[in-house]
Amino acid sequence: MKRIVILGAAESGAGAAVLAKLKGFDVFVSDMSAIKDQYKQQLDQYGIDWEEGRHTEELILSADEVIKSPGIPDKAPMVQKIKAQGTPLISEIEFAGRYTDAKMICITGSNGKTTTTSLIYHILRNAGYNVGLAGNIGRSLALQVATEHFDYYVIELSSFQLDGMYEFRADIAVLLNITPDHLDRYDFKMQNYVDSKMRITQNQTEDDAFIFWNDDPVVTRELKRYNLHTRLYPFAAVKGNGAIAYADDGHYVIEVPTPFNMEQDELALTGRHNLYNSLAAGITANIAGVSSETLRKSLASFKGVEHRLEKVGRVRGIDFVNDSKATNVNACWYALESMKQPTVLILGGLDKGNDYSEIYDLVRQKCKGLVFLGLDNRKLHDNFDSFGLPVADVQSMKACVDECYKMAAPGDCVLLSPCCASFDLFKNMEDRGEQFKECVKNL
Ligand code: ADP
Repeated sequence: MKRIVILGAAESGAGAAVLAKLKGFDVFVSDMSAIKDQYKQQLDQYGIDWEEGRHTEELILSADEVIKSPGIPDKAPMVQKIKAQGTPLISEIEFAGRYTDAKMICITGSNGKTTTTSLIYHILRNAGYNVGLAGNIGRSLALQVATEHFDYYVIELSSFQLDGMYEFRADIAVLLNITPDHLDRYDFKMQNYVDSKMRITQNQTEDDAFIFWNDDPVVTRELKRYNLHTRLYPFAAVKGNGAIAYADDGHYVIEVPTPFNMEQDELALTGRHNLYNSLAAGITANIAGVSSETLRKSLASFKGVEHRLEKVGRVRGIDFVNDSKATNVNACWYALESMKQPTVLILGGLDKGNDYSEIYDLVRQKCKGLVFLGLDNRKLHDNFDSFGLPVADVQSMKACVDECYKMAAPGDCVLLSPCCASFDLFKNMEDRGEQFKECVKNL
């Protein structure tokens, strides 16, 4: 019997284990850390062997194929050993893709994945499609393939998942943008990360669709190197340069396959980045055959996703916006760009090799104060002290919100869009966003 070993027993790993077990493989799951109770129960329920807190070599290296959780870096010693002995190493999505005929709608990009994935799901659900939501966004694709039956899957893909994908083919692929991120996992070489993102197009045929942002210099440069056979659907902020979807004179326009038009003002999501996300989602739905009426209603009714430019509330005339998910500089750029009021900006956390010069101009134009929320704020001081703005250093969310409240005046906005990961002071970006909201509530 073919032996499948799964490294990492969280959402993707535990889901892959269930699918592998139901398909009749000899399955073993190994996790270097403690496995959460819910996943232990899931594994036990299906009679799957597992270990935690260690990787037992002989149990792992005897595998015919290994499925690796996207969180485990290639540099991990066990991954190196598996590679050295030539055992195939794949991602959960690659594995799950072998066992379903559902139409696969896959979304990747450096920023906007979760928003666009959620919006596409919202539209297809409204259109009455039998659709599952999977990938990076939360629920394991493999588990759904094992235990449910959907005609469509909307799948958020990170570069780490794409790295382990070889035969998988997306019926509709969406590439939102490519800007530097996670370079620590790519030998600090941008091209490695770019190559990973471009894998979203691999195996696509002339029956498939590739939707991409036509103004992204990296994507358009890369496309010249690829001889893609798929149908191309470029979108952009404005008409021209071959874009088939764009905003034009206050209208949101899709030209093909089915001409579609609505007032830009009616889009639920605001900000330029969200115009891109709405265009990508609209083209996807249009290709999938959603009626114009449903598409129009759905683009207008979407509620947005928590921790992404989320309006928290207004206190003493000061607006508070939670964009905790902005863990890189580009995301913060778009958040600042969408600000219409003088802004007190909260920056800081774990820096992944940020180049803050990208936001210098917007900080000059839009910010009236900066609050640095991190264990080590030196790099932020080096970058921004010369701007002459009021600056405060804080190391807890309570102190942070209090400082912002002091700096801001009625009519201003306080924006948490920190450019950094959260793990120095918080459990994760959700924890950071929730603490922010709680502190604002208690003001
Ligand atoms: P991801 O899942 O790729 O991290 P999210 O939808 O969670 O993307 O958004 C992450 C952050 O990026 C948020 O701060 C959001 O405001 C910003 N953002 C969303 N869409 C885009 C886009 N198309 N381009 C740039 N930034 C974006």
